Amino acid sequence: MANSVEEVYWRLRMVGVSGAGGHGMCPKGNCVCGHAAPVAADRSNPDVGGPTLHAHYFWDCPPAKAVLTEVRAALHPHVTHLHCSHLWLCIPPCPRVCVALWRVVCLAACAAMEEGRKHMWKQRFSVAPKNAATRAAAVQGACRAAARTFLCLLDEFVRALPRAQREWEHCEDVTEAHPFVALVSILPRCYKLVWPEDTAVGPQPEFDQPPV
Ligand SMILES: [Zn+2]
Repeated sequence: MANSVEEVYWRLRMVGVSGAGGHGMCPKGNCVCGHAAPVAADRSNPDVGGPTLHAHYFWDCPPAKAVLTEVRAALHPHVTHLHCSHLWLCIPPCPRVCVALWRVVCLAACAAMEEGRKHMWKQRFSVAPKNAATRAAAVQGACRAAARTFLCLLDEFVRALPRAQREWEHCEDVTEAHPFVALVSILPRCYKLVWPEDTAVGPQPEFDQPPV
C-alpha cells in the first residue's frame, strides 16, 4: 500500500492530521456537516481541541460514517459491534478477521475518511452561493468519494498481491470465506475482493461514542 495511504493512519496515531486537529490546532468555524467547532485546545486537558476534531473527522463526520458503513457491511453478520479502537488501534473486531488484513482495512479506511474530508471542504469552497443546499451537496459528494476511495484502495491492494516480492504475512489466515478479501486458490495463491452487492444489509447497530 502506498506511503501516502499509510501516512494518514500514522499521523492520526502520532501528531494528528493537518486540518483535522493535528498538532492540537483546530480551525475556527463549524464543520461543513454542521458539527459545532470544538473547544479550543487546553493544555490542562489533552482530551479537548485536536482529539475532539480527530474523533469527529475519523468517526462521526458523514464521510467517515460512509466508510464505516462499508466496513460494517463487509463484516456482516460476523460483527455487530464496532468500536473506534478497532479501527484506530488496528484491533480486529472478531477472531474471524485476519490481523494482517485488518491492518490494511484500517489504513484504507483512515485514508478514505481523510479523502472524504478534503473533498467535502473543497466542494464547500468551490461553489456559490454557500447555503444549506450547497453544504448538503458537498457532504453527500464527500460521502460517495470516501466510500469509493475505500473500495478502490482495497481493490488496489488485492491486485498488487500476486506481484508482491515477499510472502504476505499471516496470509494463511485469509480463507475462502474471509470478509473483505477471500482466498481463491492456494497454488498459485490468489485472492479476490469480497464486497456485498447491497451494503445496506441487516440491522444497523449503533456505533459506540468515541473516547473524547
Ligand atoms: Zn463534519
